Amino acid sequence: MTYRELLKEGERKLFTAGVAEWELDAWYLFSHCFSMDRGAYFLHMETALSEEAEEKAAEFGCLTGKRAERIPLQQILKSQEFMGFSFYVNEHVLIPRQDTETLVETALAGERARMRALPTGKKPQTYRILDLCTGSGCVGISLAKLLPSAKVTLSDISEEALEVAAENVRRFDLGESCEIARSDLFERFSGERFDCIVSNPPYVPSGEIGKLMPEVRDHEPAAALDGSPDGLEFYRRIGGEAAEHLTPGGRLYLEIGWDQGETVPELLRTAGFLHVEVLKDLAGNNRVVKAACPE
Ligand code: GLN
Repeated sequence: MTYRELLKEGERKLFTAGVAEWELDAWYLFSHCFSMDRGAYFLHMETALSEEAEEKAAEFGCLTGKRAERIPLQQILKSQEFMGFSFYVNEHVLIPRQDTETLVETALAGERARMRALPTGKKPQTYRILDLCTGSGCVGISLAKLLPSAKVTLSDISEEALEVAAENVRRFDLGESCEIARSDLFERFSGERFDCIVSNPPYVPSGEIGKLMPEVRDHEPAAALDGSPDGLEFYRRIGGEAAEHLTPGGRLYLEIGWDQGETVPELLRTAGFLHVEVLKDLAGNNRVVKAACPE
């Protein structure tokens, strides 16, 4: 059997299983197993598999088998790119989505501007960011990487998710600027205040979960997706308590679902937040709400 025949066999398996990006996913798995880029593949595709390649071919068969069971590619490869960084992921965390980069970019732009405006005496060290429902840590860790003077607290209710976040903190050598705290939203932070709070909380209405793709529905943690029957429970809780945990004028940045661009801002205005604004993702959908705590 040649390399080309093996790759085609993998593609067929994924296509038959209904994998949307069957060709691309087969290629990623192939490239992972054989450590081959496209150039090397085109050179060797008509070559028969050598004896030592048999083991890698068996691994390719095993990984395409998993993908055919609709296990997400990122859980198989244990990694996902986000903001240009490669994050470790497993089945205990939501896989970082490109949409969520809008949350990071919005917080980054807003907080850079505020940091520049701070009086010199109050600069570095004291600048604290809280990432609620951190999961893999992708939001808070990206902010820590891109705002070197910030101290970021990564928080989640899930112990298993925090192990993934801790692995990513080690991976990016951010032990100095990131701390990990297990908490049910603000439970652990009584009396603490942050300059900025970011969160991508669970926001899918419970009744919608069953309609998601099998990769998401069956393999990503339901607790990271399920936002209660109306999808708004976490916004109600965060909106109700965030002001007690922000410094005066502190900012709140939340990811929202495409159809929550009216309900969530309304909730935050009712809770007393100012300058409530909705921002769109690259696909043009409402994706982020930013708001300010009164001075
Ligand atoms: N955007 C994610 C999805 O479509 C949901 C993310 C979330 O609930 N925070 O699956």
